[in-house]
Amino acid sequence: MISQKEVSYGIQIKEEKCKGCQICINFCPRGVLGISKKINKKGFYPVEVIHKEKCSGCGICFLVCPDVAIEIYGEFDINSKRKKSLIM
Ligand code: SF4
Ligand code: SF4
Repeated sequence: MISQKEVSYGIQIKEEKCKGCQICINFCPRGVLGISKKINKKGFYPVEVIHKEKCSGCGICFLVCPDVAIEIYGEFDINSKRKKSLIM
C-alpha cells in the first residue's frame, strides 16, 4: 500500500498548446504556476511550474484549462523505485 507521504504530484504543461490566458494561475490555490519568459510557437507566453513542491494534485488547473494544455501526474515509491504515473 502507498501512503500519502510517499506520493508527490507534478504538472506537465504542454507549452505549444498553451495560449497564456492565465486562468489556471488564477484558480490554483497554492501558487504553483507562473508565466514563462519564453514565447511559444503560437506567440504566447505559456505557463510554467514555479513551485512544484506546493502542488497538491487537486486537478483544478486541469479542469479549468480551455485548451487541455495541462497534465497531472503522481510520483510513487514502488519497490524502492520512483515511478511516475499520469493521473489526469
Ligand atoms: S493540481 Fe491543484 S495545486 Fe497543483 S498546480 Fe493544479 S491547481 Fe495548483
Ligand atoms: S489555462 Fe491552459 S491555456 Fe490558459 S494559461 Fe493555463 S495552461 Fe495555458
